Amino acid sequence: MPKMRVAQIARPGGPFELVEREIPQPAAGQVRIKVQACGICHSDTLVKDGHWPGLQYPRVPGHEVVGVVDAVGAGVSQWKPGQRVGVGWHGGHCGQCDACRSGNFFGCQVALQITGLSFDGGYADYMVASSVAVALVPEKLSPVEAAPLMCAGITTFNALRNSGAIPGDLVAVLGLGGLGHLGVQYAVKMGFKTVGIARGPDKQPLARQLGVHHYIDSQAGDPAAELQKLGGAKVILATVTSGAAMSAVQGGLGLNGTLMVIGADQSMQVSPLVLIMGRRSVKGWYSGTAADSQDTLRFSVLAGVQSMNEVYPLEKVTEAYDRMLSGKARFRVVLTMG
Ligand SMILES: [Zn+2]
Ligand SMILES: [Zn+2]
Repeated sequence: MPKMRVAQIARPGGPFELVEREIPQPAAGQVRIKVQACGICHSDTLVKDGHWPGLQYPRVPGHEVVGVVDAVGAGVSQWKPGQRVGVGWHGGHCGQCDACRSGNFFGCQVALQITGLSFDGGYADYMVASSVAVALVPEKLSPVEAAPLMCAGITTFNALRNSGAIPGDLVAVLGLGGLGHLGVQYAVKMGFKTVGIARGPDKQPLARQLGVHHYIDSQAGDPAAELQKLGGAKVILATVTSGAAMSAVQGGLGLNGTLMVIGADQSMQVSPLVLIMGRRSVKGWYSGTAADSQDTLRFSVLAGVQSMNEVYPLEKVTEAYDRMLSGKARFRVVLTMG
């Protein structure tokens, strides 16, 4: 049987193990993908550290997958070998439950599948995925360019386009890291008056390069007051993983403004008075489905939005993962399968 390499985690807290496995066969409704590139996302710590209830080990992480369809299982008609595709966080749903029948696939109550958590992901030469989880990748994007758009890209793009902001509105992006550097670009290209907020003056040149209209150094003063001086934000996209940093900017929302939370933390403080007096809201956003990924990729090509990446071969997975974890990567880390 032909073999492939995978980088697996055998137990919670265990190291990455580069092992050989048989190349999997796609079951009915599945496609097999020859992986070309896979981004490393901060959420992969859920697998590495064992912070996802019920996760079965060994597990191969990776939900920013781009590759080529290599084989299809029975009943798959929409995908053919040779097509360039991607797979993101949303790995499948039942299609039958009340949530699915309402179009809320992210809330599937029966068979919600998360790539690299519920089944093996893209830190591998090959993977299989449900055909509903697969997105078409435009030819203009290289595998390394496309991979981070499958999670960091879709999450920021989809949150912004569902935020209620319209062209000309003041939109702030809190955090200018892996998510934020994409969020700022999408906000600018969607026609929002875009504000970048980060700690310290260092990220100002980058923010300007990415097209922001204003930059706020959250350490130099009160970022909420600075936003109010600009008229108050219609939307603040919170990409940081600090509830305290999110709490500190809520007062910068304008009337009917929304704090869109996409960075995961355990808790944050919200002032009921701030919400009530300005009819403001705090809302979370789940990345999206394969159709949303296709929209993200198409828009990124159309508007010239690009992820800045550091690239490592699969065999250097430990080094690459540590680089992501250090917070020093500029800005996404991507594995290539070679
Ligand atoms: Zn992710
Ligand atoms: Zn369902």
